[in-house]
Amino acid sequence: MPVFLLLFFLLLLSGCSSPTKQTVGQDQAPAGKIVLRGGTLIDGTGKGPVENATVVIAGNRFEVILSGDASQYESEPNTRVIDVEGKYLLPGLIDGHVHYLGWAAPLYLAQGVTSVLDLGNYTPWILAQKFAVANQLVPGPRIFTSAGQLDSPPGTFPHSVNVSTEEEARAVVREHAGRGVDYIKAYTMIRPELLKAIIEEARAADLVVRGHITVSAREAALFGIASLEHMSGIAIATIDDPEILQEIEQRRTEPEYVMATVRELAPLMQPELFDDLIELLVKQGTALSPTLVSWWMGVHPHTREYEEQDQAFLQDSRLSFIPELSRQSIVGRYSRSRRARSDPKFQVGYAKSQEFIKSFLEAGGTVIASSDTTLGAMPGMDLHRELELLVDSGLSPLEALQAATRNPAQLIGQGHELGTIESGKLADLIVIGGDPLQDIRNTQMIEMVIKDGEVLDIDFDIQFQDLIPRPLSADYLSRFNTAEQTAP
Ligand SMILES: [Zn+2]
Repeated sequence: MPVFLLLFFLLLLSGCSSPTKQTVGQDQAPAGKIVLRGGTLIDGTGKGPVENATVVIAGNRFEVILSGDASQYESEPNTRVIDVEGKYLLPGLIDGHVHYLGWAAPLYLAQGVTSVLDLGNYTPWILAQKFAVANQLVPGPRIFTSAGQLDSPPGTFPHSVNVSTEEEARAVVREHAGRGVDYIKAYTMIRPELLKAIIEEARAADLVVRGHITVSAREAALFGIASLEHMSGIAIATIDDPEILQEIEQRRTEPEYVMATVRELAPLMQPELFDDLIELLVKQGTALSPTLVSWWMGVHPHTREYEEQDQAFLQDSRLSFIPELSRQSIVGRYSRSRRARSDPKFQVGYAKSQEFIKSFLEAGGTVIASSDTTLGAMPGMDLHRELELLVDSGLSPLEALQAATRNPAQLIGQGHELGTIESGKLADLIVIGGDPLQDIRNTQMIEMVIKDGEVLDIDFDIQFQDLIPRPLSADYLSRFNTAEQTAP
């Protein structure tokens, strides 16, 4: 496809971008200013709401934020004044864990997700897609990515980079860093000593490591892992039965086993061991990315409600850009997960996971809101659902909002540019029609989305096409037709 070729030429011309930590912002900022006046501002810093706030955007950055009279800014030439009285202003949402696909772009944006943290994707494709979005060649949320995840043979999922030795692992980290990835992802079959080497090598390149691991969270935290995806490693660190621990060690190279450990081991967690681990995680600054919406689908009490919402939503004729396979997979995930997770032990596992999240937060831990959106999930909407499930687990709505704004930006070293509404930062902002602090589900009342200082048209366009579809191997696709569908 010519567009794809064009992208590769552009990538070559760009000199394979330097490995320093770049923010993906527009090179050409919009001209003029925008003044949003009269709304209630929840800026993401953790401060309480500010009523009657004014937010002034100049080009693609926030210029001034104040409360009260703002007439001096409104009268400046070339200024668009938008009255948002009675509305709520939040930073653009950041989904902390996705597997990006091009057709999902309009869905993320319409749901106020202006940035996504992509993991374990197909390296050349996601780097091209990131470049294309950053340069406004195709629409989409700002993309940050780990590119291909580091796993060990035989490998758990297609598109991973399998490494067996410390030397190989370090070489792949250096190569990824050289290609401009934003962080590194370690995967389920990686042994502790390899994880340690990966984290050391990544640190030398100023990159953090995020892990969906089958290593104890205690060990991983001591090595310096930045985030535990799907709460992986928590159960291994809060079970002291030597037989179970030995089994985990012995079965680390069985793909089905390692993919199931998070849910299978959760019911066996020993809450009396939580506090000790939590203290260590907080001390080490290890964040938790629970992905409850996908990993506990079929178990959490909102499953039926989400299913009905998705079925109704997919009737919209403007959404013809969602591929048939994805539609089937989105609708089918509900019955599949209900069937696969009907054993009452999963209710126990879910309750213990919620308990862990609550204690972790109370101890000062950092939670990341992540959907784990992939081929068979609902981009954008699933992040709002994750917020609801985090509030169910004991986060306040304000804390849940930070988990989808400030926290993921800080996690990947972008806190100086994104995640809060503060002067000088990139102007990603959403306007919503209801108070999210009263009811977190009000984040779904999206009325306006501003990305990079530009008011986006978030109506679905029947003309939209995914110009650079991600190549999906038969092996990859087969994972979405199995009884126990799980994202990488
Ligand atoms: Zn994932």
